[in-house]
Amino acid sequence: MANSEENSTDTRVDPYLESVKAFHLEMPLYHIFDLSIDADARKIHELLHYDGTLDAYCIWCEKESVFDTGDHLYTGAYYEWLLKEFGFIRNSYRCSRDRNHEYFVYYLKTKDHFQKIGQWPSVADFQIPQAGKYRKILGEEQYKEFTRGIGLSAHGVGIGAFVYLRRVFENLIEEAHQKAKAEGKAFLEEEYLKARMDEKIGMVKAHLPEFLVENRSLYAILSKGIHDLSEDECLQYFETVKIGIEQILDEKIIAKEKADKAAAARAAIQKAHGKISGA
Ligand SMILES: [Zn+2]
Repeated sequence: MANSEENSTDTRVDPYLESVKAFHLEMPLYHIFDLSIDADARKIHELLHYDGTLDAYCIWCEKESVFDTGDHLYTGAYYEWLLKEFGFIRNSYRCSRDRNHEYFVYYLKTKDHFQKIGQWPSVADFQIPQAGKYRKILGEEQYKEFTRGIGLSAHGVGIGAFVYLRRVFENLIEEAHQKAKAEGKAFLEEEYLKARMDEKIGMVKAHLPEFLVENRSLYAILSKGIHDLSEDECLQYFETVKIGIEQILDEKIIAKEKADKAAAARAAIQKAHGKISGA
């Protein structure tokens, strides 16, 4: 995570206002905005009337696709919208490969608030198939917990979602711990068990993806989430933490592919060598 103190003017931007995709497709249900915050209200108005394309995973094509705006209710200019338009708003996005592949999003606007109230297919419906590529590297149990976290966050349950992600994270560290132990790593088991998570990561870092070692603060965010952050704050940071974990898993997949390929090549070379020298 960026940590530049100099430029930060402490204007905490809601991460779901950062992109069209985050706003329409990734924002959890019931996420609510206070329209008295002028900057947020303007941004919502702008995102609501976005009239361009959007790259997203299509659950029917089962791959990334380009979506464009389907059904959009065009309302007035900013102040007119803010002061006079109340009620339901429906937006949709259509897959460019097939116009029947359509994502719908529903919002409710009152005088003071703007809230996402519905989405079909749900956030989980399109995020879980994308998590499928992590099934093998995670194993069945961990994969279930990872997708449960995604499902909970999509339904507006922030702290619970964080609990599952933290379990996935802890499991990655435990896996590395077991590997280090099997190799007879030179640390005392009691010391390891007593150590704080960031110290543990340091002790077994040879067995961990680089991204995890560099971004061990991810764990602090997860723990803080569970103990100190509100339901809403957890939901706000969920995507950031999820991407961090995916980055770690991507790195593990690449390392495994490389090791598998090397093992296959080694076996093939030995076999060829055996044949040649045995002839
Ligand atoms: Zn499609």
